[in-house]
Amino acid sequence: MTDCLIVGGGIIGMLTARELSAAGMDVTLLEQSRIGRESSWAGGGIISPLYPWRYTNSVNDLAAWSQQSYPSLSEELKEASGIDPEYTISGLLIIDPEDIDKAVDWSFNRKQNLKLIDGSDLTSYEQTLKIDAKQGIWMPDVAQVRNPRLTQSLYKAINDKVQIHQHCKVDELIVENRQVKGVETDKQRFEADRVVICAGAWSRTLLQSLATPPTIEPVLGQMIIFKHQPERITRITLHQDRYVIPRRDGRVLVGSTLEHRGFEKTTTEAAKQELKTYALNHFPELAHAEIEHHWAGLRPGSPKGIPYIGELPEISGLYVNAGHFRNGVVLGPASCRLLADIVLERPPVLPSQPYSLDAKRF
Ligand SMILES: Cc1cc2nc3c(=O)[nH]c(=O)nc-3n(C[C@H](O)[C@H](O)[C@H](O)COP(=O)(O)OP(=O)(O)OC[C@H]3O[C@@H](n4cnc5c(N)ncnc54)[C@H](O)[C@@H]3O)c2cc1C
Repeated sequence: MTDCLIVGGGIIGMLTARELSAAGMDVTLLEQSRIGRESSWAGGGIISPLYPWRYTNSVNDLAAWSQQSYPSLSEELKEASGIDPEYTISGLLIIDPEDIDKAVDWSFNRKQNLKLIDGSDLTSYEQTLKIDAKQGIWMPDVAQVRNPRLTQSLYKAINDKVQIHQHCKVDELIVENRQVKGVETDKQRFEADRVVICAGAWSRTLLQSLATPPTIEPVLGQMIIFKHQPERITRITLHQDRYVIPRRDGRVLVGSTLEHRGFEKTTTEAAKQELKTYALNHFPELAHAEIEHHWAGLRPGSPKGIPYIGELPEISGLYVNAGHFRNGVVLGPASCRLLADIVLERPPVLPSQPYSLDAKRF
């Protein structure tokens, strides 16, 4: 018997486990494959929604809380694990944005640094960018982390505080008289009066038998990475639905597609070529860099990208923290703190209603 079972070992499961264990709970985390190898590994690690003004306040509130906490979180993880998540303020350069008025209103209302620039000035922000553009937006405070490093450091940091079972797939929930009692896995039964579903794109599968399961579905994203030289590309750049993210060691990520193919997680040559063409059109010098890797991940898609955070109304002790769609890395710290507040019945760090299971999302 443990105080709380967490299902899923992505960034959301691990941060939730970290919060609950820090509050003195005995926590067990169950992961069906290897820790941090799904969406949380595959993502770009931008610590901001793309075009944040296109999201609801509920998403932006979580993002703002997390953005404030990331510098200290990364420091704490680095110290505890010896692995640096490489939190880096790269800034975000948006090329020819469509909704400039909305962006300006958003920056004013939310007190965010945002500057409109002329297309001819883009190269003064990113020297190797070669694209004809009319206008740009410069957001100097946008940061990034390196996903595999973040998940590895989180794992190392919580490993001696939380019981972690990898290759342990939760098959079903054990519920008696509308109270959760634990889970049945492909290895053994685990008992607890509190279970938190943090199973990313797979979360709905586990909650299928409920009258109103959360609307979470897999949305595939493909990315490529170039092995380039350090400091040639230094800003995150975004043009329509594609972006370029430079890492500290010179590697450059280019992403990402949005595809609805169920739980299939294969890469395609067409997407690789499309991402490569996009990259070379913007940064011609990448023609000399090797594409080191091409991968796909399943985002936990949800209506308007608003995550589900809270207790399920039908079953006492059963919670969900999932559906972060394109923003699980930036929303994670706030989302997991809020979920912990709800479980522990502490004053919530943000109002919880917008994320509740029955909140209107459409
Ligand atoms: C290409 C791409 C780019 C992205 N870029 C960004 C970005 O720049 N910024 C950002 O903030 N977000 C980004 N995201 C989104 C972000 O990665 C996700 O929102 C986030 O990782 C979700 O975390 P999670 O822990 O909920 O899911 P996951 O990381 O998928 O973890 C869920 C875990 O649950 C496990 N699991 C599932 N079912 C079971 C079961 N029955 N039993 C046990 N374990 C189970 C899975 O194996 C998995 O490890 C991107 C995503 C992709 C794919």
